[in-house]
Amino acid sequence: MGKHEMKSTSLFARVRRESIRRHSVRHKSVRQGSSHRKTDRPTVVRTVTHTVVHPESSEHAQSVAWAEDLVKTYGDAHDPDTEVTALDHITVDFQRGHLTAIMGPSGSGKSTLMHCLAGLDTPTSGKVFVEGLEVSAMNQRQLTQLRRERIGFIFQSFNLVPTLSAEENILLPLQIAHRPIDRDWFNTLVHVMGLESRLAHRPSQLSGGQQQRVACARALMSRPSVIFADEPTGNLDSRSSREVLGFLRDSVEKYGQSIVMVTHDPNAAAYADRVLVLADGRITRDMHQPSREQILAVFDDSASSASSSPAGNGEERS
Ligand code: ADP
Repeated sequence: MGKHEMKSTSLFARVRRESIRRHSVRHKSVRQGSSHRKTDRPTVVRTVTHTVVHPESSEHAQSVAWAEDLVKTYGDAHDPDTEVTALDHITVDFQRGHLTAIMGPSGSGKSTLMHCLAGLDTPTSGKVFVEGLEVSAMNQRQLTQLRRERIGFIFQSFNLVPTLSAEENILLPLQIAHRPIDRDWFNTLVHVMGLESRLAHRPSQLSGGQQQRVACARALMSRPSVIFADEPTGNLDSRSSREVLGFLRDSVEKYGQSIVMVTHDPNAAAYADRVLVLADGRITRDMHQPSREQILAVFDDSASSASSSPAGNGEERS
């Protein structure tokens, strides 16, 4: 570690300690239980500050996020020549503690669905909920708060701040939200991601795989309700892809993290508990724990025409 890096790291540590001292009373996040078993996962209890809350519903008791009759159109609604229906009446729920992959050809609506779920885009009609909070009814201030407190993002292009070290990047979202830093959790993530010797490095000094591991640690650091990952392995070689997907899978298995991942890659989708396939803004397949071969078969024209149910254990939706 260079002299300048040591200086900026210790400065950063002082800022962080001050931030913890000032905000530790205002924000409470309590982790209960210690088991990693799927059926007995630790529960994260947070102070709820949003005012828009969906009524209690047993139908969604296991859901971390869901969409109801979601429509998103672009262009001029009065001009069929320019109007594009990106999402065509989608109703779907995402289960807590699951890794769900969203697949489909380019232009099928994957990004639009993810953006609407994360409050980054506004639905034309229909509703979106995260943790029972109606995202589609939130104003900008509430959306910002939702994204800071409950949502983690992982992007294809990593989106790390180039002037900050790996450690500073991992802690940045908590710093911005003035939330306390759980040092034990930070150390656990750094250890699991194999980043101990890279914490003082800037993104340009890291490989693509290391950068994406930093981005994964950053997303997990705030223990979000749900992580939205947009082609997280799109810029990685196959070995780094396997590492990152292994970490995402582990975070689901060990820590009960909920993840929604857009991917083109059947190898990546095979890590998921569930794979949704979109076409023309609609969900055309809903597969539970499919193998890579079963996923590939869905995209194989000859297999599709040879069988009405190429996905084997999948369910087909109209
Ligand atoms: P995918 O992520 O599956 O590639 P998108 O969600 O990006 O698909 O896009 C779905 C459809 O919506 C496409 O036809 C695309 O051209 C259109 N679309 C997406 N964003 C916009 C936009 N900002 N303005 C106009 N059309 C858009």
